[in-house]
Amino acid sequence: MDDLLKQLPQLAKDKHKENKKYFARLKKKPPKNLDYMMQELHEEEFERTDCLQCANCCKTTGPLFTNADIERIAKHFRMKPQQFIDTYLQIDEDNDYVLQRVPCAFLGYDNYCSIYEVRPKACREYPHTDRKKFHQITNLTLKNTAICPAAFHIVEAMKKRMP
Ligand code: SF4
Ligand code: SF4
Repeated sequence: MDDLLKQLPQLAKDKHKENKKYFARLKKKPPKNLDYMMQELHEEEFERTDCLQCANCCKTTGPLFTNADIERIAKHFRMKPQQFIDTYLQIDEDNDYVLQRVPCAFLGYDNYCSIYEVRPKACREYPHTDRKKFHQITNLTLKNTAICPAAFHIVEAMKKRMP
């Protein structure tokens, strides 16, 4: 996995043009069974991928924290939401709450998330490849192919399964 993670930014860069073109076509005319196919591709990929060997999302990019996330996680730490914000979060250029720094402060050396049960919604859903109306998040997915090996493989599989 370490070798793949090192190569991933270059692999994604090499496929960028091809993927952009593919997604532009997908957006124009999404296949009727797209949601079903994405669910299937996502499940197949995550049967092979062990996130505990990777954690690249937690190490290199962070989730957005919604107000509900902040309240839930602050409660878990018995902190006031504002205290949690001041300790761990900052506001980004889109006015969203994000981590102050990466790797995420809640990631353990063994790649386990120390707040797994109460983690942000965005962490639960990453890399969003089983999301409904997947064609609406193709730009985000393009970015994620350079971060997440599973997202990279899923896009490669999509092109074969839905040419
Ligand atoms: S979701 Fe992707 S980047 Fe995150 S740990 Fe799993 S394979 Fe790695
Ligand atoms: S909260 Fe947990 S799952 Fe989310 S980025 Fe941090 S360590 Fe990873």
